[in-house]
Amino acid sequence: MIKIESLSKLFNEKKVVENLTLEVKRKEVMSLLGPNGSGKTTLLNMIAGLLHPDSGNIYINNTMVYGTNGTKKVNLKPSERKIGYVFQTISLFPHMKIQDNIAYGLKSLHISQSEIKKRTNTLLDFVDLTEYALLYPNQLSGGQQQRAALARSLATEPQVILLDEPVSAVDPQLRETFRLDLKKYLQKLETTTLYVTHNLNEAFMMADKIAVMGNRHIEQVGDRTEIFDKTQSTFVAKFLGLNIFKGKAIKEQNGHLLIDINNNISVLSTSNPELIGKNVTITIKPEDITFSKTQTTNQNATNNILGVITEMVQTRSTTQVTIDLGFPVKTRTTSTEIKNLGVTVGDKIYVTFNFSEVNVFSEKEST
Ligand code: ADP
Repeated sequence: MIKIESLSKLFNEKKVVENLTLEVKRKEVMSLLGPNGSGKTTLLNMIAGLLHPDSGNIYINNTMVYGTNGTKKVNLKPSERKIGYVFQTISLFPHMKIQDNIAYGLKSLHISQSEIKKRTNTLLDFVDLTEYALLYPNQLSGGQQQRAALARSLATEPQVILLDEPVSAVDPQLRETFRLDLKKYLQKLETTTLYVTHNLNEAFMMADKIAVMGNRHIEQVGDRTEIFDKTQSTFVAKFLGLNIFKGKAIKEQNGHLLIDINNNISVLSTSNPELIGKNVTITIKPEDITFSKTQTTNQNATNNILGVITEMVQTRSTTQVTIDLGFPVKTRTTSTEIKNLGVTVGDKIYVTFNFSEVNVFSEKEST
C-alpha cells in the first residue's frame, strides 16, 4: 500500500507538486497518467526517497517513510523503504552479466551464496530470462533488458514497485509485446504497483485503476471506465480527447436533466437535480456520438441535433468527423460507414447521442 498525504515540492520556487493526495491499495496495480512535465517522476522519486518533499507524509504498508509524526520527523533511507524501482532508461550495470545484475541487491542482504543463487534463478525464471543469465545487457533487446531490470528490482522482495515509463527504452515495434509481458509479470506478483506513463493506451492496458496527474496534483482517480464515463475535470476530459461543452443545467424534464448550451441547444442527460441552476461541464466520448442524414424520433431521450460537417480526418481504420452544432463536436466512425452514408464536408447531418452517454459535472474551483 502507498498512501500520500498533502505532498508538496518546489523546484527553484516553482511548485511542481502541491497538496497531492493518493492511495494505492495493497496488491493494486495503478497507472499514474499525465502529460510530460506534470510531475510524475518527481512524485515517484519522493516515494522512493531519492528526493525530499517540502511537506506532506508518505506511508508504505502503514509505515510512515517520510513526514511528521507528532513532533517526530521521519525520513527513511531509500534502502529502508523496501521499494523496487524500474527507471525510464535502462539502469543495468553494463559490465555485469544478467544474473549478476539481478543478484546485485541480494548481496547486501547478508544471505548465503546458495540462497542468492536460488533467488536469482527464480527471478530469471519469473521474467523468462534463464537462457540469458550469462549474457551482458548489450546482448539483450531493450525489452529483455527492462525485464532484467524488473527482476533486479524484485530481488529484495519489495513491498511496492514503481515503474517510470519502462516502455520508452524498448524498440517501438516491440513495445506492444513488452507491455503484455510486463502486465503478466505484474499481475503474477500481487504487489502494490504504481506504473507511470504519459500514454493513455498504455495506462489502460497496464492497470484497472488510473490516477490522472495534472495541475500539480491528482485530478481524478478511478477505474478505467469511470475515468472515461464519469470524468470530473476539464483537464482530464481534454487529456482523454473527449468532447467538452460548457452549459447550464436548467430543470428536470421527464426524469432527465435538461441542459442548455449557448442559449440555443438543449441536451438531456441522466437526472441530477442537485445541478439545477449551476454552470456545468458536459463531456461525451467521440465514439458515443453517431450521425445520420435523417432525424430520428426522439425516443428514450435521445439527443438529436442538426449540424454541418466541417472536417473529416481519415486514419488507417477510422475517420474522425467534426460537426458544427454552433460548437464543434467530434465523432469517430469507420471509413466504411462514411462511404455507406455518402457524406462529405459541408453536408448537413443529424448528430445523435443518448442521454445516458452525457456526463455532466460542476467544475471544482481550479487550483
Ligand atoms: P514528468 O515525469 O511528469 O514528465 P517531472 O517530474 O520529470 O515530470 O518534472 C516535473 C517538472 O519539474 C518539470 O517542469 C521539470 O522541468 C521540473 N523538474 C524536475 N526535476 C527537476 C530538478 N531536479 N530541478 C528543477 N526542476 C526540475
